Amino acid sequence: MNIKEVSTGNSVEELLKRREKCVGKALSIAHEYPLHIIKGEMQYLHSATGEKYLDLVNNVCHVGHSNPKVVKAGQRQMAVLNTNTRYIYDGLTDYIERLSATLPSSLSVGYLVNSGSEANELAVRIARAHTGARDMIVVEGAYHGHTGLLIDLSPYKFRGPGGKGESEPWVHVVPIPDTYRRKGEDYIEELKMVVNESDAIAGFIVESMLSCAGQVPLPEDYLSSAFKYVREAGGLCIADEVQVGFGRLGTHMWAFEDQGVVPDIVVMGKPIGNGHPMAAVFTTPEISASFEDMEFFSTFGGNPVSCAIGLSVLDVIEEDKLIQNAKEVGNIFINGLLDLMDKHTLIGDVRGRGLFIGFELVKDKETLEPATLEAKEIVKEMQDRNVLLSIDGPHKNVIKIKPPMVVTKQDALETIKLLDEVMLKISTNSH
Ligand code: PMP
Repeated sequence: MNIKEVSTGNSVEELLKRREKCVGKALSIAHEYPLHIIKGEMQYLHSATGEKYLDLVNNVCHVGHSNPKVVKAGQRQMAVLNTNTRYIYDGLTDYIERLSATLPSSLSVGYLVNSGSEANELAVRIARAHTGARDMIVVEGAYHGHTGLLIDLSPYKFRGPGGKGESEPWVHVVPIPDTYRRKGEDYIEELKMVVNESDAIAGFIVESMLSCAGQVPLPEDYLSSAFKYVREAGGLCIADEVQVGFGRLGTHMWAFEDQGVVPDIVVMGKPIGNGHPMAAVFTTPEISASFEDMEFFSTFGGNPVSCAIGLSVLDVIEEDKLIQNAKEVGNIFINGLLDLMDKHTLIGDVRGRGLFIGFELVKDKETLEPATLEAKEIVKEMQDRNVLLSIDGPHKNVIKIKPPMVVTKQDALETIKLLDEVMLKISTNSH
């Protein structure tokens, strides 16, 4: 299928005008200026105006936009059977067994749902059912989903625009263990203090590398100490692997493995279905048993089409050695960014692993004053050069790189070259 065949003939202006009337304004639009995209192709997006963009943002289309193997698996299963998990079919058992085999052996029971939010919501329900407690611990700056409960568990939202500012009494927030901005702090002591705020901890929900908080790797031993204190207080430890799972860090399948811990509950989402709406929760048989009094059913979760798609995603990760690719290409990005940091004073920090990278922009390397406007400008200039990036972190000054895992060394080298050019232009303009 070529681009002309998928072109709709609508202009971006027309679509924006119609969209404004029929889509709620709480939904924002990605990138510095809106893109009318008509086709995805592995790590690239094609626009209606004939531009081809390198997508360094989308961590959902993990094995590539419209990966032909995944598309075929979905099409084949759609033409044969799509039913629900109250029936017996090979796909469900095959898929849960296959996913479980990628996890520590204790995490052998899986629940399949349709979004990361649903999965996190279920994880919290399971933790509460098992412990009989209600309170939760979360990390500052975290986002865990869009349901009512998860907004209350997402400081990114309740402390952000439109949020109520204050946390609910059952939510306890630990500071970001950010070794760049908060060097030398005793993160474990801070966590211990937060655990002691409550005598009814149901759980601690945490990403194994922080995403919305600004692409922050956790200090070594952070999770092992945190899990120890949370468990001593009777809580369960939930690893939210929605962004960082499925080999993105280039070392293991799951990011918590980097920290040498085994969570009580693992939540998977985004890349799991390469864009097909799927998510999963895995836990131990003992914890799952506490949740089995009331029937659990999700109409679409774990349907045969989703299972076929999920299986094909796992096949592609293995067959195309994408975890290895994440490591190799990630290193090129990171080393290239470190070289740029030597050259451009605007880059204060480069961090991350594999294809989960952030670089933080500051106006002054002593005061760490955030270079928020410059970050925006760099991302816009890169968009002008057909490379898509995004920004996050509490000061909106961390540029993120988290592309489909099929991105190549050539893509990385080209990106670094363009970033060099853009940063030179920005520093020259500001003098
Ligand atoms: N957890 C994390 C870490 C996320 O980044 C997101 C989505 N950005 C979610 C949960 C929620 O997933 P979904 O949008 O699929 O509901």
